[in-house]
Order: sequence, then structure tokens, then C-alpha cells
Amino acid sequence: MNYKMYINGEFVNAMSGKTRSIINPATEEVIGTVPESQPEDVALAVTAARTAFDSGTWRNTSAQERGKLLLKLSALIKQHATELAELEVNNNGKPKREAEFDIDDAANCFEYYAGMATKIMGQTLSVPDTNSFSYVVKEPIGVCVQIVPWNYPLLMGVWKLAPGLAAGNTLILKPSELTPLTALKLAELIHEVGFPKGVVNIISGDGATAGNALINNSLIDKIAFTGGTLTGKKIMEAASKNMKKVTLELGGKNPAIIFDDCDMDIALDWGLFAAFANSGQVCSAGSRILIDEKIYDEYAARFIAKSKEIKIGFGLDEGIQMGPLVSALQYEKVKNYIQAGINEGAKLSSGGERPAPLSKGYFLLPTIFENVTEDMRIVKEEIFGPVVVLMKFSTEEEAIRMANNTEYGLAAGIFTQNLSRAHRVLPQLRCGITWVNYFHPTFNEQPWGGYKQSGTGRELGTYGMEAYLETKQVNINLSNEPAGWY
Ligand code: NAD
Repeated sequence: MNYKMYINGEFVNAMSGKTRSIINPATEEVIGTVPESQPEDVALAVTAARTAFDSGTWRNTSAQERGKLLLKLSALIKQHATELAELEVNNNGKPKREAEFDIDDAANCFEYYAGMATKIMGQTLSVPDTNSFSYVVKEPIGVCVQIVPWNYPLLMGVWKLAPGLAAGNTLILKPSELTPLTALKLAELIHEVGFPKGVVNIISGDGATAGNALINNSLIDKIAFTGGTLTGKKIMEAASKNMKKVTLELGGKNPAIIFDDCDMDIALDWGLFAAFANSGQVCSAGSRILIDEKIYDEYAARFIAKSKEIKIGFGLDEGIQMGPLVSALQYEKVKNYIQAGINEGAKLSSGGERPAPLSKGYFLLPTIFENVTEDMRIVKEEIFGPVVVLMKFSTEEEAIRMANNTEYGLAAGIFTQNLSRAHRVLPQLRCGITWVNYFHPTFNEQPWGGYKQSGTGRELGTYGMEAYLETKQVNINLSNEPAGWY
């Protein structure tokens, strides 16, 4: 199938006619072609969004009406949920049950921000000059570029589209070049809802050409990005040229801390989910499992045994719990990390290879390393694959030190039945997302984002809305008399 981009309310090809083949990572077969944006396509999309913003059609649409359109979009996503979930499985490789969760979450995200459109609030202030009527209003930022990765192709886009639209901005979304299909399908639903033309533009293309042209365009007011930390740094640099607002959701090397007073069954189930959900291609993946030495042997043995039971295969097949990696390149990258772990002297306790019966697709077994040290690359760097390290600690203080011993600061989970311990440890974890006795659940109501090199700003919740609003102070002189300055 040939997909088109969505620019200024129309479905278009790249002006150059260039296209890109999109691959199903489970079968390695081409499942569609999409336009490959060049700088001239980017310029067209930016002009459409700029014109739509400056004309005021969208920001002057009442908040109630904006909310109604978002509700309509949410309902359309629910109507098309099966089609979208299957498309996500075919393009990204994730198991159907994970894709279904993502699509449902995406619909809920539009619903959540639909409600928030009418709750944008300013402040009135009592200032020292009693002749001043002083208040604060919130306004949309303007034209926002939204660049997202391949691991949650639709959901990451929706986390940005929903608050951006609710706040009255105009938008250009660029999905990853590997996984653009659900975003381009969403464009059809957006068209059906009937947003004014130019308010939402969705373009396909790669990072080096389309992404680079987007982030360097001086007509843009804000860049919202989810992706790798290196790309995030490039975006910050490009944004500095004309002081674009920036929010960045980047990588992580997240710890799950298993205390000896945990419920072992719960800690095992969520520990495996932390490490292997979405084949470990999750920014908040629990890729370092820190285990109290008193229970290490039992936890590690059961973790390894249970990891071997994970059903791997094509995500649309019944009962599949883990799909392939997203691309040949990602497969190679992860394999190189596994080799690096072996070379550095870690013990490969399980996995490391392609699952025997699968000859096609970028499949990799759940891979578990033990006997690692904190200076090893597999312990320090984000692998973004089904590779986890199991590590021992002997005291609570040591667990906290190890958990924080990373340049990242996205997420952490702790497993304990001791409430005091949970509350003692949580404030000491230098990261933006924490869980107690589970790992990964996200809520549209809660702020998502990281400390340190995991990014800047927050998405979702009221914080995510705030990130799409400017703040203006207004002061009105109530006096009928000149002040007498001169
Ligand atoms: P990536 O940084 O290579 O690409 C992400 C997006 O940026 C893609 O759309 C890509 O086309 C675009 N891009 C790449 N280079 C660009 C450039 N120079 N200018 C503008 N755009 C450019 O990341 P990826 O490989 O697609 O995704 C994996 C990374 O994303 C991981 O590091 C992961 O931790 C991170 N991630 C973070 C979160 C989060 O919420 N913190 C969520 C998902 C993924």
C-alpha cells in the first residue's frame, strides 16, 4: 500500500516523488511505501502550520470546540482500534496485546486533553500598586514540531498532538522513518474530524534530512522530541539559534531494585516485564535489576527460568509475548552490545542468540548477564533491546548508590513490602518516574520525563499541557490621573 503525508489538509506525496519502503520486522517483508520528505516538503508543512497559527483560526476556536474535536478523534481511534493495533504490530513488531494497550492509551490521551482544553487557567494577582489590575493569561506557543521514535510509534505522537491541540497550537508531527504507518493512518482520522487546514500536519521522512530541516526552520516556535540522547543534544543546539522552546524525552538505564522483603512472585513478574516489554525497546526499560544478595540466587534462578518461557514470534500470532527488534540495524546494535558484555568478562547466563525456530525477522532471545561490574558498557549504556544485567547489593544505601550511578535519570522501580523503606528510598532516587511493586504502567494523568540526561520538561498530565502554553502578564492602569512622572 502507498501511504501519503498530510500537509495543509491534503494528502500528498513528496514533491520529489521520493519514497521509502517500510518493513515488517517479523517477516522482513515490505508492507508499504511512504513519501520521503525533502526540505521543500518540510518548508510546505511549516508554512501551512505557520499560516494556520497566525490566521488565528485554531487558537481563536473556543476551548470547548477544540475539546469536542479531540473527543471526536478519540472516538474515531477507538472505532479503528483493531486496524491501528494490527498496523502497529506489522510495522513495529510488538505483540498484539501491547499494541492494543498503546492504541487504547492513545484514544484516552485525546480524551484526557479534550477535557483539559476548557481548564486552561490564568491568575489574578494582588500587586503593591492598588491602581493596577494585574493578571496572567495562558496562550498557545505557536508552531510546534513534534519528532518521535519508533518504539511507540502512535502513542508517542499522540502524547504530543493531544496537549498541543488542546492548547491551541498548530503542529507538524514527524514519526520515525522506520514506523510511520500508524501516524499516517491517524492523519486520515484527523482529516475526518475536520480540524481547520494546516492545524495538524504529519510528514514522513528521516532524521538527517526531514528532521534536520524541521529543527532548523526559523518559523518554528517549539520542538518536542522523544528519541535518543545524542539526537536530543543536536536538537537543543539547533533550537538555541532562535531560542525555540524545547522539551526532550530521551533515554534511560533504569534500575529495578529488588529488596529481600519483596513479594518474590510480584517482583519476578514485573521484573521480567520491566526488562522485556516491547523487546526491551523502551526508554523506561528496567535494564538493571539490582537484587539484595540475601535473595539473589533464588531471584536470579527463577528470573532466568521464567525468561525462557516467554513466547517469541510474530505479534499477531496467538499468545505471543515478545516480538522482534524493530530493524536489522537495531538487531546488529544489540548484538554488538552482547558481544561487548562477553568481551568485558560478564557472564552470559541466558539468551544472546536468535530463537532457534525463527529463521526470518530480527528476533533475539531474552538475554541475561550476571557477574557484571558498574564500569561495563552493558551496565552503563542504553542498549534498547531485550538485554538485562542482574546485580547484587548488600545494603539499602548501596542499592540507592548503584541505582543513581548513571548519567540518565528517567525511571526506577522498587520492590518491597516495607512501606517505610519504600518512602525512605523513593526521594533518594534521582529520576522522574518511580514505581513501587510494579514497573512501567503509565497514566495520561501523570507527568512523564526525566532528570539528568534523560531529558528536559515533562509530557502528560497538567505538566504536559503547560509545556504547550506561553505565560503572559497583563497590567491595567485603573487610575484616571496621570502618574506625574514628568
Ligand atoms: P533517534 O533519536 O535516532 O530518532 C528519534 C526521532 O528523531 C526519529 O523520528 C528520527 O527520524 C529523528 N531524528 C534523528 N536524527 C535527527 C536529527 N538530526 N534532527 C532531527 N530529527 C532527527 O531515536 P530512535 O532510535 O528512533 O529511538 C530510540 C531512542 O529514543 C532511545 O534512546 C530511547 O531511549 C529514546 N526514547 C525515549 C523516550 C522517552 O519518553 N524518554 C521514549 C521513547 C524512546
